[in-house]
Amino acid sequence: MSKLIATRAIRGAHKLVARAERELKQAIEEKGPKTKVEFPNTAYYLPISYGILGFKIETLQGLVKLLEEAKRLLPLIPEEKLWLPYLGHTLDAGMATLFADEIIEAIKYTKNPLPYLPESQPRDGYLWLGAANDIILRERGIEFVDGTAPGFAACLGYCPTNEIAVKIARELQEKNLYVFMAAATEGKSIVHQLEEQGVQLGWETRLVPFGDDVTACIHSLGFATRVALSFGAVQPGDYQRVLRYNKNRVFAFVLALGPVDDEKHAQAAGAINYGFPTIADTDIDQILPTGICTYEHVVSPVEHDKIVAKAIEVRGLKIRISKVPIPVPFGPAFQGERVRKEDMYVELAGQKKPGFEFLTTKGLDEVEDGKIELIGPEINELEEGSQIPFALWVEVAGREMQPDFEPILERQIHDFINRAHGVFHMGQRDINWARISKEAKDKGFKFKHFGSILHAKLHEDYGKILDKVQIKIFTQEKDILDLIGLARQVYQQRDARLADMTDESVETFYSCTLCQSFAPNHVCIITPERSGLCGAYNWLDGKAAHRINPTGPNQPVKKESAIDTLKGQWQGVNEFVYLSSHKTFKIFNSYSLIEHPMTSCGCFECISCVLPSTNGIMTAYRNYTGMTPSGMKFSTLAGMVGGGVQTPGFIGHSKQYIGSKKFILAEGGAKRIVWMDKALKEEMKAMLCRISEREDIQNFFEMIADESVGVTEEEVLKYISKKNHPALSMPPLF
Ligand code: SF4
Repeated sequence: MSKLIATRAIRGAHKLVARAERELKQAIEEKGPKTKVEFPNTAYYLPISYGILGFKIETLQGLVKLLEEAKRLLPLIPEEKLWLPYLGHTLDAGMATLFADEIIEAIKYTKNPLPYLPESQPRDGYLWLGAANDIILRERGIEFVDGTAPGFAACLGYCPTNEIAVKIARELQEKNLYVFMAAATEGKSIVHQLEEQGVQLGWETRLVPFGDDVTACIHSLGFATRVALSFGAVQPGDYQRVLRYNKNRVFAFVLALGPVDDEKHAQAAGAINYGFPTIADTDIDQILPTGICTYEHVVSPVEHDKIVAKAIEVRGLKIRISKVPIPVPFGPAFQGERVRKEDMYVELAGQKKPGFEFLTTKGLDEVEDGKIELIGPEINELEEGSQIPFALWVEVAGREMQPDFEPILERQIHDFINRAHGVFHMGQRDINWARISKEAKDKGFKFKHFGSILHAKLHEDYGKILDKVQIKIFTQEKDILDLIGLARQVYQQRDARLADMTDESVETFYSCTLCQSFAPNHVCIITPERSGLCGAYNWLDGKAAHRINPTGPNQPVKKESAIDTLKGQWQGVNEFVYLSSHKTFKIFNSYSLIEHPMTSCGCFECISCVLPSTNGIMTAYRNYTGMTPSGMKFSTLAGMVGGGVQTPGFIGHSKQYIGSKKFILAEGGAKRIVWMDKALKEEMKAMLCRISEREDIQNFFEMIADESVGVTEEEVLKYISKKNHPALSMPPLF
């Protein structure tokens, strides 16, 4: 740590302790040692000395003992050429400062007239409120406990302009933080600036002017100490628990605005004892390594338009958005709701227009929390019944965020958006599809509200790992086509991470029941060789999702004893599926399309089904709109297979699963594929060539029919007979 900053803090502590000694001596001489000292209407005596040391100080004489403690803690001012590990000394100097502050402030309360107003807000030009009484503590302190107010910003000094002062105060208020203000610099304070701008000050508006003296900073930490004693059941004198409670429960920080002198450095050192870091707008020395505070201890210089965001980040404060700010009702009750074509105002992406959803990690400095940009027309610029391209590009940042978590967070887009009444969402990645109802549009729902939903819900559900979220919404085809390749590259990289793992190499699979919101009995069992049927979750994602949210929809599933390795049936998996499907499915075969296959929710990328006369199967991708040889279009097939039922002869699955050695293993594997829609076949060409090699089949790719060959079983049979397709010589499917 910087010797310079330690020196300044220690020097500041020396000055304040000397001042406390001077003023105490004078007060005792003038008023006598038995003169009563107290902060108004409190049972917590002088809260710092009571909370930290257990001292019940009631007289000027009692302050002498506190002064001795302050002097005992005071370290020597570092010598010019001597290097020492300074943090411990700086912390001691900080605590000595707090004791000195409390002595000086307590003496003020012996004066007549009182230097502070007894009310909860300024009056008649008197600005300073001093220590809060116990009524205020009870009313306001509970907010620190129930999360209504996550903490406070202790603001010292002043801003370069009144406008900046107002902007910072408003930003802090918006985050539900209290703004405790003290310590004017050369007579100038943020409090004066807010007052000049007509901003209402006081406990009611959470903008609390404690005092212009630097020692009035103590009322912030005094309040925090009383919160620990009052609501944390911490015993007076148990200083470790007082400090730990504040570090873990009260999200506070110091904003040092303008010049920072030695005494203010000393206050910052005092706050660090509580785990409260200091963020400065001027270029003071920093203390960056973590230790006492959650992250850095002192960060500077930070621009005014970034200082609140930076403080929140450094303190590790998690933003909670109590209500999703959209004009339609929002909640899990609306998740199963569909928007029928006749009720729809606009359709987004789906089979007819391109689209995708993508979530990626950025650096903390690259994300502006809550920023939502719409690139392209808004809903009110579109005609009723429009079908438009649609993409959501989400950027998140957080100290605990890891790229491994991206697919999990990305997949929540589906779940979150479906909670908005009048909004229907299906699919993920580059097969997203959504509809907005006429009713939702009439109520004022806009495309930008997708951003509001994602911002609020990602913070609420994943606040542990992320600190900032910004969203771009694209509604123009050109922009979407420019970006979709990038997103697809990342999807592929995510899928490739599992390349060498097999189902035999693990003892545990992962479940996913995220889609039970609209397919109540559906359970995906995700294995290393079979991803979730939406294609968005593979085994590693399931594992990471469980790590983020141990009680969430992704649970570990112990395989236990194998019942049938060809069909992919295990005792433990059967038991898990039975319970998770609400006792609907007793038997589950992971690798069969015919016997007790996996249920399908509706989010599958592909559907495969038996074409009986060919002794093979067909596979169609969900964007294929034409007829299939099953006699049904994809949409009809999806209606039949989806909803969370086992449909023998039909399965929904991911594209990735086609290349797996476990793809319908019970029926003989991928060499059963006799028909694929052309676009899917082309996309899967490399994978099909690998299957060809693996199964030792010459030209397997060419043997598979597509819609250009025919869309009836007869046409397919004729084609594969000509090509001598291996399915024809495999054991009968039935
Ligand atoms: S399809 Fe399966 S893996 Fe994908 S979100 Fe739904 S339940 Fe989870």
